[in-house]
Amino acid sequence: MQKLDLLYEGRTKRIFASENPDEIIIAFLDNTTAYRGLKKSFIPGKGAVNNRISNHLMRKIAGLGIPTHFIKEINDHETCVVKADIIPIAVVVRNIAAGSLAERLGLPEGMAFDKPIIEYYYKDASLGNPMINEYHITTLAWATEEELKTVADYSLRVNMFLSAYLIDLGIALIDLKLEFGKNKHGDILLADEISPDSCRLWDTKTHERLDKDRFRLDLDDVEDAYREILRRLLGN
Ligand code: UDP
Repeated sequence: MQKLDLLYEGRTKRIFASENPDEIIIAFLDNTTAYRGLKKSFIPGKGAVNNRISNHLMRKIAGLGIPTHFIKEINDHETCVVKADIIPIAVVVRNIAAGSLAERLGLPEGMAFDKPIIEYYYKDASLGNPMINEYHITTLAWATEEELKTVADYSLRVNMFLSAYLIDLGIALIDLKLEFGKNKHGDILLADEISPDSCRLWDTKTHERLDKDRFRLDLDDVEDAYREILRRLLGN
Protein backbone atom coordinates (compact mmCIF):
# COMPACT_ATOMS: atom_id res chain seq x y z
CA MET A 1 0.00 0.00 0.00
CA GLN A 2 1.49 3.28 -1.14
CA LYS A 3 1.57 6.58 0.71
CA LEU A 4 0.68 9.56 -1.49
CA ASP A 5 0.47 13.26 -0.49
CA LEU A 6 1.03 14.34 3.10
CA LEU A 7 -2.42 15.66 4.11
CA TYR A 8 -1.73 16.73 7.66
CA GLU A 9 1.13 16.79 10.11
CA GLY A 10 0.21 16.75 13.80
CA ARG A 11 2.34 16.59 16.92
CA THR A 12 2.54 12.80 17.01
CA LYS A 13 1.19 11.61 13.66
CA ARG A 14 1.40 12.26 9.94
CA ILE A 15 -1.61 11.59 7.73
CA PHE A 16 -1.12 10.61 4.09
CA ALA A 17 -3.50 10.09 1.18
CA SER A 18 -3.61 6.58 -0.25
CA GLU A 19 -4.52 5.23 -3.68
CA ASN A 20 -8.09 4.78 -2.42
CA PRO A 21 -9.90 8.13 -1.87
CA ASP A 22 -11.92 6.61 1.01
CA GLU A 23 -8.80 5.50 2.91
CA ILE A 24 -5.88 7.34 4.47
CA ILE A 25 -2.62 6.23 6.07
CA ILE A 26 -1.62 7.24 9.60
CA ALA A 27 2.11 7.24 10.39
CA PHE A 28 2.77 7.23 14.14
CA LEU A 29 5.82 9.34 15.09
CA ASP A 30 8.22 9.00 18.01
CA ASN A 31 7.56 12.63 19.04
CA THR A 32 5.80 13.35 22.29
CA THR A 33 4.36 16.61 23.57
CA ALA A 34 2.55 17.75 26.68
CA TYR A 35 1.16 20.94 28.19
CA ARG A 36 -0.25 22.11 24.81
CA GLY A 37 3.01 21.47 23.02
CA LEU A 38 5.16 23.46 25.47
CA LYS A 39 7.03 20.32 26.56
CA LYS A 40 8.43 18.23 23.73
CA SER A 41 10.63 15.21 23.40
CA PHE A 42 11.45 12.19 21.31
CA ILE A 43 10.88 8.67 22.59
CA PRO A 44 12.54 6.17 20.24
CA GLY A 45 10.14 3.39 19.27
CA LYS A 46 7.05 5.03 20.77
CA GLY A 47 5.31 5.45 17.40
CA ALA A 48 5.52 1.73 16.63
CA VAL A 49 4.42 0.73 20.13
CA ASN A 50 1.40 3.08 20.05
CA ASN A 51 0.46 1.95 16.54
CA ARG A 52 0.39 -1.68 17.63
CA ILE A 53 -1.41 -1.00 20.92
CA SER A 54 -4.04 1.15 19.23
CA ASN A 55 -4.68 -1.33 16.41
CA HIS A 56 -5.03 -4.21 18.86
CA LEU A 57 -7.58 -2.27 20.93
CA MET A 58 -9.45 -0.99 17.84
CA ARG A 59 -9.83 -4.60 16.61
CA LYS A 60 -11.25 -5.65 19.99
CA ILE A 61 -13.64 -2.69 20.01
CA ALA A 62 -14.82 -3.46 16.48
CA GLY A 63 -15.60 -6.95 17.79
CA LEU A 64 -18.13 -5.38 20.17
CA GLY A 65 -20.01 -3.96 17.18
CA ILE A 66 -18.70 -0.41 17.60
CA PRO A 67 -17.57 0.89 14.19
CA THR A 68 -13.94 2.06 14.10
CA HIS A 69 -11.76 3.63 11.42
CA PHE A 70 -9.26 0.74 11.53
CA ILE A 71 -8.73 -1.12 8.24
CA LYS A 72 -5.26 -2.66 8.17
CA GLU A 73 -1.85 -2.41 9.86
CA ILE A 74 0.62 -1.69 7.05
CA ASN A 75 3.83 -2.00 9.07
CA ASP A 76 4.97 -1.42 12.65
CA HIS A 77 4.26 2.32 12.61
CA GLU A 78 1.76 2.83 9.75
CA THR A 79 -1.92 1.93 9.52
CA CYS A 80 -4.59 2.28 6.87
CA VAL A 81 -7.84 3.74 8.19
CA VAL A 82 -11.18 4.98 6.85
CA LYS A 83 -11.10 8.62 5.79
CA ALA A 84 -13.59 10.26 8.11
CA ASP A 85 -14.72 13.81 8.83
CA ILE A 86 -13.45 14.29 12.35
CA ILE A 87 -15.99 15.70 14.81
CA PRO A 88 -13.99 18.49 16.52
CA ILE A 89 -14.66 17.14 20.01
CA ALA A 90 -12.40 15.17 22.36
CA VAL A 91 -14.46 12.92 24.63
CA VAL A 92 -12.82 12.19 27.99
CA VAL A 93 -14.24 9.37 30.13
CA ARG A 94 -13.02 9.20 33.72
CA ASN A 95 -13.25 6.33 36.21
CA ILE A 96 -10.79 7.63 38.80
CA ALA A 97 -9.80 11.23 39.59
CA ALA A 98 -6.51 12.34 38.06
CA GLY A 99 -4.95 15.10 35.97
CA SER A 100 -6.95 18.22 35.17
CA LEU A 101 -10.13 17.00 36.91
CA ALA A 102 -8.36 16.34 40.21
CA GLU A 103 -6.78 19.78 39.97
CA ARG A 104 -9.89 21.69 38.88
CA LEU A 105 -12.22 20.24 41.52
CA GLY A 106 -9.64 19.70 44.27
CA LEU A 107 -10.22 15.93 44.30
CA PRO A 108 -7.60 13.54 45.64
CA GLU A 109 -5.85 11.76 42.76
CA GLY A 110 -6.91 8.10 42.85
CA MET A 111 -10.48 8.75 44.10
CA ALA A 112 -12.74 6.18 42.38
CA PHE A 113 -16.13 7.25 41.00
CA ASP A 114 -19.31 5.15 41.36
CA LYS A 115 -20.00 5.73 37.67
CA PRO A 116 -17.90 7.16 34.84
CA ILE A 117 -17.81 10.90 34.20
CA ILE A 118 -17.95 12.11 30.59
CA GLU A 119 -16.41 15.42 29.58
CA TYR A 120 -16.20 17.11 26.18
CA TYR A 121 -13.45 19.41 24.95
CA TYR A 122 -13.48 21.51 21.78
CA LYS A 123 -10.48 20.48 19.67
CA ASP A 124 -8.89 23.83 18.94
CA ALA A 125 -5.31 24.08 20.17
CA SER A 126 -5.21 27.87 19.59
CA LEU A 127 -8.01 28.18 22.19
CA GLY A 128 -6.36 25.66 24.53
CA ASN A 129 -8.95 22.91 23.80
CA PRO A 130 -11.61 24.40 26.12
CA MET A 131 -14.08 22.23 28.00
CA ILE A 132 -17.61 22.41 26.56
CA ASN A 133 -20.96 20.70 27.19
CA GLU A 134 -23.72 19.09 25.11
CA TYR A 135 -25.40 22.45 24.49
CA HIS A 136 -22.29 23.94 22.88
CA ILE A 137 -21.88 20.86 20.68
CA THR A 138 -25.43 20.76 19.31
CA THR A 139 -26.07 24.53 19.20
CA LEU A 140 -22.81 25.19 17.38
CA ALA A 141 -23.64 22.23 15.10
CA TRP A 142 -20.45 20.26 15.75
CA ALA A 143 -22.75 17.23 16.02
CA THR A 144 -26.51 16.64 15.98
CA GLU A 145 -28.28 15.43 19.13
CA GLU A 146 -28.54 11.98 17.63
CA GLU A 147 -24.85 11.89 16.69
CA LEU A 148 -23.88 13.07 20.17
CA LYS A 149 -26.05 10.35 21.72
CA THR A 150 -24.18 7.76 19.62
CA VAL A 151 -20.81 9.29 20.56
CA ALA A 152 -21.66 9.16 24.29
CA ASP A 153 -23.05 5.63 24.03
CA TYR A 154 -19.96 4.36 22.16
CA SER A 155 -17.63 6.17 24.59
CA LEU A 156 -19.22 4.57 27.65
CA ARG A 157 -19.22 1.15 26.01
CA VAL A 158 -15.55 1.46 25.01
CA ASN A 159 -14.71 2.56 28.56
CA MET A 160 -16.64 -0.34 30.11
CA PHE A 161 -15.07 -2.89 27.81
CA LEU A 162 -11.51 -1.58 28.14
CA SER A 163 -11.76 -1.25 31.93
CA ALA A 164 -12.73 -4.93 32.25
CA TYR A 165 -10.25 -6.12 29.60
CA LEU A 166 -7.30 -4.23 31.11
CA ILE A 167 -8.02 -5.13 34.72
CA ASP A 168 -7.39 -8.79 33.84
CA LEU A 169 -3.93 -7.69 32.63
CA GLY A 170 -3.23 -5.89 35.91
CA ILE A 171 -3.92 -2.44 34.46
CA ALA A 172 -6.42 0.09 35.85
CA LEU A 173 -8.01 2.39 33.25
CA ILE A 174 -8.07 5.71 35.10
CA ASP A 175 -9.36 7.82 32.19
CA LEU A 176 -9.24 7.92 28.42
CA LYS A 177 -9.71 10.35 25.54
CA LEU A 178 -11.61 9.32 22.43
CA GLU A 179 -12.26 11.00 19.10
CA PHE A 180 -14.89 10.20 16.51
CA GLY A 181 -15.46 10.90 12.83
CA LYS A 182 -18.13 10.34 10.21
CA ASN A 183 -17.55 8.19 7.12
CA LYS A 184 -18.95 9.11 3.70
CA HIS A 185 -22.29 7.52 4.63
CA GLY A 186 -22.56 9.66 7.77
CA ASP A 187 -21.92 6.74 10.17
CA ILE A 188 -20.06 7.58 13.39
CA LEU A 189 -16.70 5.80 13.69
CA LEU A 190 -14.22 5.65 16.55
CA ALA A 191 -11.10 7.37 15.16
CA ASP A 192 -7.68 8.69 16.23
CA GLU A 193 -5.86 6.33 18.61
CA ILE A 194 -6.16 4.52 21.92
CA SER A 195 -2.74 4.28 23.52
CA PRO A 196 -0.76 5.27 26.61
CA ASP A 197 -0.66 8.77 25.04
CA SER A 198 -4.44 9.08 25.30
CA CYS A 199 -5.28 6.99 28.39
CA ARG A 200 -4.12 6.93 31.99
CA LEU A 201 -3.07 3.40 32.84
CA TRP A 202 -1.88 2.41 36.32
CA ASP A 203 -0.49 -0.94 37.41
CA THR A 204 -3.19 -2.33 39.71
CA LYS A 205 -0.71 -3.65 42.30
CA THR A 206 2.03 -1.02 42.41
CA HIS A 207 -0.04 1.95 41.10
CA GLU A 208 2.93 2.68 38.85
CA ARG A 209 1.95 4.95 35.95
CA LEU A 210 2.30 3.21 32.59
CA ASP A 211 1.27 6.15 30.38
CA LYS A 212 2.15 9.65 29.19
CA ASP A 213 2.10 10.99 32.76
CA ARG A 214 5.62 9.51 33.05
CA PHE A 215 6.68 12.08 30.46
CA ARG A 216 4.47 14.89 31.83
CA LEU A 217 5.88 14.38 35.33
CA ASP A 218 9.52 13.82 34.29
CA LEU A 219 9.54 10.22 35.52
CA ASP A 220 12.09 7.91 33.89
CA ASP A 221 11.61 4.88 31.62
CA VAL A 222 8.74 6.29 29.56
CA GLU A 223 9.52 3.96 26.68
CA ASP A 224 9.67 0.91 28.97
CA ALA A 225 6.25 1.76 30.41
CA TYR A 226 4.68 1.90 26.93
CA ARG A 227 6.41 -1.38 26.01
CA GLU A 228 5.08 -2.96 29.19
CA ILE A 229 1.51 -2.14 28.10
CA LEU A 230 2.20 -3.69 24.67
CA ARG A 231 3.73 -6.76 26.34
CA ARG A 232 0.70 -7.28 28.58
CA LEU A 233 -1.69 -6.86 25.63
CA LEU A 234 0.14 -8.92 23.03
CA GLY A 235 2.73 -10.85 24.98
CA ASN A 236 5.64 -9.16 23.14
N1 UDP B 1 -5.70 13.63 26.92
C1 UDP B 1 -5.29 13.47 25.61
N2 UDP B 1 -5.02 14.57 24.86
C2 UDP B 1 -5.14 15.84 25.34
C3 UDP B 1 -5.57 16.00 26.68
C4 UDP B 1 -5.83 14.88 27.44
O1 UDP B 1 -5.20 12.35 25.12
O2 UDP B 1 -4.88 16.80 24.59
C5 UDP B 1 -6.01 12.44 27.74
C6 UDP B 1 -5.04 12.29 28.90
O3 UDP B 1 -3.93 11.49 28.53
C7 UDP B 1 -5.89 11.62 29.93
C8 UDP B 1 -7.30 12.14 29.65
O4 UDP B 1 -7.29 12.63 28.31
O5 UDP B 1 -5.88 10.22 29.73
C9 UDP B 1 -7.73 13.26 30.59
O6 UDP B 1 -6.74 14.28 30.57
P1 UDP B 1 -6.85 15.53 31.54
O7 UDP B 1 -8.08 16.30 31.20
O8 UDP B 1 -6.71 15.07 32.93
O9 UDP B 1 -5.69 16.49 31.10
P2 UDP B 1 -4.13 16.43 31.31
O10 UDP B 1 -3.87 16.23 32.76
O11 UDP B 1 -3.71 15.31 30.45
O12 UDP B 1 -3.69 17.78 30.79
